[in-house]
Amino acid sequence: MNNSRRSFVSTSALALPALAHAIQAQTSPFRRPKLKITDIRTAEVRGHGYQVHVRVYTDQGIYGQGEATDSAAGAVPIIAGFRRMLMGRDPLNVEAIWESLRTGGIFAGAQGGQFVTALTAVEIALWDLAGKALGLPVYQLLGGKVRDKVRVYCDSANHHPDDPKAKEKLQEIEKMGFTALKIDIDEARDPARFDRVNWTASNGEIDRMVKEVAFVRSCVSRNVDLAVDMHGRYDAPTGKRVAIELEPFKLLWLEEPVPAENVDVMRDIRQATKTPICCGENLFLRHGFRELLEKRAVDIIMPDIQKCGGLLEARKIADMAHTYYTPVAPHCVVSPIGYMASCHVCAAVPNFLVIEWHWISRMKLWKEFVKEGEIIEKGFVTVPDRPGIGVEMNEEAARTAQVPNTGWFEETK
Ligand code: MG
Repeated sequence: MNNSRRSFVSTSALALPALAHAIQAQTSPFRRPKLKITDIRTAEVRGHGYQVHVRVYTDQGIYGQGEATDSAAGAVPIIAGFRRMLMGRDPLNVEAIWESLRTGGIFAGAQGGQFVTALTAVEIALWDLAGKALGLPVYQLLGGKVRDKVRVYCDSANHHPDDPKAKEKLQEIEKMGFTALKIDIDEARDPARFDRVNWTASNGEIDRMVKEVAFVRSCVSRNVDLAVDMHGRYDAPTGKRVAIELEPFKLLWLEEPVPAENVDVMRDIRQATKTPICCGENLFLRHGFRELLEKRAVDIIMPDIQKCGGLLEARKIADMAHTYYTPVAPHCVVSPIGYMASCHVCAAVPNFLVIEWHWISRMKLWKEFVKEGEIIEKGFVTVPDRPGIGVEMNEEAARTAQVPNTGWFEETK
């Protein structure tokens, strides 16, 4: 009896650590996937403008894909330069990678521009990868969704009253289900311009702008919101006059009546008018938006999520804006991959207003670019529950827009 008890005790004492290890290995503390980054590759596409697609590869056979645009020219060699710092790292620590790449680049332009745009593409790829590795949609990793459907506005060039097809096209956009439109009223070739360089608009130019807004307003239902972009191409007196003259149209916003760099001037215009003022598509990181918000210089901010620093950075910018009760209407001109990535952010932030869509003149490429096909339904995008961003590139279609003489996700030698 004693012998058998002794033997039981001694066997159990030996077995317990092994058992505890086995339990730990099979339960939550060790469920987190272990991955290492093995490569980072790029492809260049010309859709609405120039886009860089990035893939981050791992030793577990999965990769994440991200996309950057606009200031992405020059991003490819910057991303190649990131490779040394990324190889062998755990891709699930997205914030740690982002912070190390950014702080590692403070003498290389990491305050904005091409550097942050390149970093953005990588950050988005890391979230796609994290979602795939964990079996969760990106919105879940950003805090979960506050809405299922993301409202889209259509950027349309159909605002010329003399264009015989414009009215029909605008009404077609409304029939497609869009509840908001945007038009551009800056016109370098306006015959009423007196000076090719100076951006003080003449009376004739301002009359043309008002006429175009009135025309579009008359073509669509009252419930369709209208935003108007001046692309930051005018000076302060013009910006102020246009904002005041457009007040009767109750615009969703007037975008960048002056460039965004001088926050005080933007605030002067905002204070002079009832027309809501929106800006921020060329600002980077939280730092780019801080002063704008602190000085109450805008009514709405519009970070471009494919260049402002990434999905989590966009969420942080939106959260900063939320403390000022300021809505966020992201600028967005990318393919359905970057677009859906942006929509995950839009689904996750409470103060989202509406997101841009700019591919109406590229419908074939838009619908074929991802294997899932059309992602906009009646003017809204439903964020998918599939892991990661939830859309995969259709390479055959995407390659029809490949930038000539560039590589296509070439393995790094
Ligand atoms: Mg704009």
